[in-house]
Formats: sequence, structure tokens, C-alpha cells
Amino acid sequence: MKLILLGAPGAGKGTQAEILCKELSIPTISTGNILRAAIKNGTPTGLKAKSFMDAGKLVPDEVIIGIITERLAEEDCKNGYILDGVPRTIAQAEAMEKAGIVFDAVVSIEISDETIMERMSGRRVCEACGSSYHVVAVPPKQEGVCDSCGGKLVQRKDDAPETVKARLEVYHKETEPLKDFYAQRGLLKSVENQSSVAETSQAILHALGR
Ligand code: AMP
Repeated sequence: MKLILLGAPGAGKGTQAEILCKELSIPTISTGNILRAAIKNGTPTGLKAKSFMDAGKLVPDEVIIGIITERLAEEDCKNGYILDGVPRTIAQAEAMEKAGIVFDAVVSIEISDETIMERMSGRRVCEACGSSYHVVAVPPKQEGVCDSCGGKLVQRKDDAPETVKARLEVYHKETEPLKDFYAQRGLLKSVENQSSVAETSQAILHALGR
């Protein structure tokens, strides 16, 4: 199963991807997590990406296309994968298509901007492994500590309210047109955000015929 998760920043793509990858036994590839790791390690890609990310802007397409084609060529991707946060522009989607990367389904998680603004203030991520939590909706067993690896949970710099607003604008302008792009290819499945994480997972699995 080769799957794309679409949705605004804060729609719950990362959380759903973590659940789905266990359910479907395929890896999740998150360009956001790859970029954050690159910044932490001070790599040339990280240096290039940092200022865009801190401002809530998109990292240039050529950087992303390089990262994703390299990652999808790795051994663990041969039976399928879930893409979280990529493609984010028509140019990225076209570049993947050109590279012969095809998908079985594209799930778009639908949620209002208002709900996202409320939600982002409570989001926490593990600075070591990238797992995501929410202080109310998905709390870790021990406050501030990652359940998966014991790493420290922090608030992302780009989850500040002004940056979230900028990221939502970018989403509507650059990423939302991908819904039409994949609808034209018969791949789009729109799923409404539900009141709990588990119900949204159920709705996604149902949309995938599972
Ligand atoms: P995310 O963790 O998916 O919300 O991504 C965090 C930030 O990383 C975004 O706001 C962008 O600055 C950058 N980023 C992640 N994935 C992409 C992508 N596919 N295209 C451009 N920028 C990206």
C-alpha cells in the first residue's frame, strides 16, 4: 500500500501515520521529521531548510524532491509506505509522478482552521524520535517524556500562533490544490476529522476498504 496523507498542518497526519504504519506494517516517511533531524545534525540540507521552516514557509521543491526520491529508494520502502507532509505542492507531485512513483490512495483529512488553531497550542513532539503528542488529546504516560523512546517532549517553534496562521495560508494556496490533482487521478479519499484520534483512524481505514 502506497499512501499519501494530505491535510492542513495540525490535521493529525503525523499521529494517524504512526497508527496506520503499525496497522499496515509499512514505514511512514515524514519530510518534516527528516528536515528537523537534518537541522539538529547541522547538515547542509538542514542549514538550507531552517529559515524557511522557522518562518512557516515551504522548503524549496528541489530540496524536498531530492530528499524524497532518495528515501523512497531505500529497502524498507519496497512493500509500501505512508507519506506524511509530502507532496505539498503540485510541482512535488509532478516530480514524483515523473520519477515513476505511483500511489494506491490519497487520504485527505478535513478539519477547520479554527480547530487547528486551538489544537496546535497543545502539540508536543519528541526531540529525539519525532513522535507527536497533545497535552489533552494524546498525552504521554509521563509528562514531558516520550512513550516510545524516553526523549524530551518539546513545543515546535513553528507551532507559535502567528506561524500557524502563515502555515495555514501556505496550505490553502500551495497544498490544497493537490486534492483536485489526485481526484482527477481517481485516488482521493476525503475523511472528516472525528472527535477522537481512534475514530479518525477508523474512518481512514474504512475509506481504504480495511
Ligand atoms: P511538517 O512537520 O510536515 O508540518 O513540516 C514542517 C515544516 O517543514 C513545513 O512548514 C515546511 O517548512 C517544511 N516541509 C516539510 N515537508 C515539506 C514539503 N513536502 N515541502 C516543503 N516544505 C516542507
